Amino acid sequence: MNSATLTNENLMARRRAAVARGVGQAHEVFVARGSNAEVWDVEARRYVDFAGGIAVLNTGHCHPAVIAAVKEQLDLYTHTCFQVLAYEPYVELAERLNQLAPGHFEKKTLLLSSGAEAVENAVKIARAYTRRSAVIAFTGGYHGRTMMTLGLTGKVQPYKTGFGPFPGEVFHAEFPNELHGVSVDAAMHSLALILKNDVEVERVAAFIVEPVQGEGGFYVAPREFIERLRALADQHGILLIADEVQTGAGRTGTWFASEQWGVAPDLITTAKSLAGGFPISAVVGRAEVMDAPGPGGLGGTYAGSPIGCAAALAVLKVFEEEQLLARSQAVGEFLGAKLRDMATRVPNIGDVRGLGAMVAIELFETRNGQADLHRPAAELTRRAVAEACRRGLILLSCGNYGNVIRILVPLTASDALLQEGLLLLEASLQAALGVQP
Ligand code: PMP
Repeated sequence: MNSATLTNENLMARRRAAVARGVGQAHEVFVARGSNAEVWDVEARRYVDFAGGIAVLNTGHCHPAVIAAVKEQLDLYTHTCFQVLAYEPYVELAERLNQLAPGHFEKKTLLLSSGAEAVENAVKIARAYTRRSAVIAFTGGYHGRTMMTLGLTGKVQPYKTGFGPFPGEVFHAEFPNELHGVSVDAAMHSLALILKNDVEVERVAAFIVEPVQGEGGFYVAPREFIERLRALADQHGILLIADEVQTGAGRTGTWFASEQWGVAPDLITTAKSLAGGFPISAVVGRAEVMDAPGPGGLGGTYAGSPIGCAAALAVLKVFEEEQLLARSQAVGEFLGAKLRDMATRVPNIGDVRGLGAMVAIELFETRNGQADLHRPAAELTRRAVAEACRRGLILLSCGNYGNVIRILVPLTASDALLQEGLLLLEASLQAALGVQP
């Protein structure tokens, strides 16, 4: 295909004809190249990337050290299947993740390819260890698009529509959300009701919870909630699984967000930014739990591919060399302060929240010049995100009401680029509100 014929418009037409309709697309943009926190489309237009491939690019697009490590690996071997012929990078990555995961106990790791696969395997391992079947997840939670993970996912539209039935023995308790009127007590009460009415506690293998709900709207799990979940889990021999697919790999200021809990999960799932854009995922956890499935019970053809391992080891090195955990904190503080300031000029911003560099604003209709927390502004959010794209800023929305704009900018972005993105965000919000500059 002659590159002169590549325009966003004609690629959209080809895409519509060739690609399954169910594959969503946030923006009608086709990318030509990316570098750090910027991308250029096929028409050579530049964008500031605040979406980071949905939390995959903590080290930025095409980090030179990650690309170099992958190229080096490509020249040695690309695939053997770890279950057939093993290789050192898998073992080294497992060793590193075991050291990084919170908890003063021996740990082991299983590598896979995607976040959903990690969650699937965490459930398999929890069932094998506890010899119980039920799993309790939370409203607003998101865990992937495979059948089990869709079952665990709280939000129905658009993920689950038409795809059921999902594997049984999954129950949803309320996730605490003070902004929308669900206290920690209310959430724990809903869990108690499930254990009273729906499933005997002796049948529950695990609780699965995101430290910060990602797709659900960047709501941070209150520490007290996690402590109470941990206590309940301990009391009844239930495992606590932290789904850190979106929060992990340094996004929240620590390598795993659950390091900030003060209590350790038994199993952690991680993926996304782990390999800076190359597909790999992991389940890390208590050694005795991880060892419950017998030999041959876990794995997959591409699971823990050498290319993903090489990339992940390079990402870990970049985090050390560029002190990206501290940068994650700093980016979070910078964005938080600027967004709170923006909220004084844009009253529709009813909440600014997050953990580390996982930051979001929630938009509402206004009443008497103030955000009305009973009226989420989904249409305004959609317009602002579309307007931002036209102005050269890639944003992503999320949330159960579709009224949250989340920021997952590469941690390697400069302050100047963050500032540029924030100016574009504010201008886009004002334009979506019909305010002339
Ligand atoms: N769990 C969480 C918390 C996620 O955010 C996601 C992806 N958005 C997944 C699981 C699924 O990951 P993947 O898309 O890599 O399968």
